[in-house]
Amino acid sequence: MKFNTKTIHGRQKHDPAYGAVMPPIYQTSTYAQTTPGGHKGFEYSRTHNPTRQALENAFASIENGEFGFAFGSGLAAIDAVMKLLKPGDEVISTNDLYGGSHRLFTKIFQGFGIKFHFIGMQNASNIESYVNDNTKLIWVETPTNPMMNIIDIKTTASIAKKHDVLLAVDNTFATPYLQQPLDLGADIVMHSATKYIGGHSDLVMGALIVKDKELAEKLYFIQNASGAVCGPQDSFLALRGIKTLHVRMQRHCENGKAVAEYLATHPKVEKVYWPGFEDHPNHDIAKSQMKAFGGMISFTTKGNNYEQAIKTVENLKIFTLAESLGGVESLSGHPASMTHASIPKEEREKTGVVDSLIRLSVGIEDIEDLINDLKQALG
Ligand SMILES: *Cc1c(COP(=O)(O)O)cnc(C)c1O
Repeated sequence: MKFNTKTIHGRQKHDPAYGAVMPPIYQTSTYAQTTPGGHKGFEYSRTHNPTRQALENAFASIENGEFGFAFGSGLAAIDAVMKLLKPGDEVISTNDLYGGSHRLFTKIFQGFGIKFHFIGMQNASNIESYVNDNTKLIWVETPTNPMMNIIDIKTTASIAKKHDVLLAVDNTFATPYLQQPLDLGADIVMHSATKYIGGHSDLVMGALIVKDKELAEKLYFIQNASGAVCGPQDSFLALRGIKTLHVRMQRHCENGKAVAEYLATHPKVEKVYWPGFEDHPNHDIAKSQMKAFGGMISFTTKGNNYEQAIKTVENLKIFTLAESLGGVESLSGHPASMTHASIPKEEREKTGVVDSLIRLSVGIEDIEDLINDLKQALG
């Protein structure tokens, strides 16, 4: 089955009760038993729920994995991966990481005795010098937020394999439409399904997908034992989102390309960060591991003026100023005052988050309207 068919039919079956084409929302916490243990495979909804199970099967299918797990948020999914570790274990991750992941690692798991190395990974061979006997996990995000750096998944996976270390890839920005990390050698794929997978800015959810049965059993144990699952209503919405992922992503990529190209020629724009440009430092890697380049774009304006950047995002009318990304509607954000405000100016500027940096999540509206909106806001 090809990807565009998998999003709709991958490991889905019609509901056995009445043949409903869409899985019903099984809004129940528990299931009747005829005798102790006499049930139809479902006992309690933290452990199993038919709507969530349909979604978990869809997750596994679209990422070319065997096992999918749904959580109450992206961070809950990452939290579950971290619980595979023990005090003394070490993790290698990028220095340009989603802020919430960085907070979870440093403010919670560091306190439990896990050591984190946040390093530049644009040159993947860099990773190997940080590997030692305690290294248990490499945590990668590509493209990164908000600088759109690209990390070579295949090379990172070969380093992980060589040293018997797990490789997890946060695939939130790319989605399986653009990039399938398990096929490139990763062990775990993670999503904030809040973003492109859900796709309509109407839910908060996380996902993990793996191929290996032993690893799946460990994650299933953690999912049930820690209990950060999502409810049946959100599972239904995410399933509905997945069915249009490929058509949405196609338009996100087309509009993203047009917006990136427009900004690159604008006289007030200094630099546009988008992996589709040939002068992007890892464009060739992006080209080899992604099908297209997505709808996430960051840019800076000439003079690097804080107030001017704030004014620009305030002036945008179709691009809504908001946190998050990946919905059908276009969003704008100002990382220095929003997502990265808690990071000291000097620190954030080292990774490129300067005062004039604006991040766009380009939606699937008419491209002419989007370009006109940017034109009037920058003018
Ligand atoms: C939003 C996001 C997360 C966290 O997901 P939540 O659903 O908000 O908990 C993790 N990684 C990336 C790249 C994200 O954009």
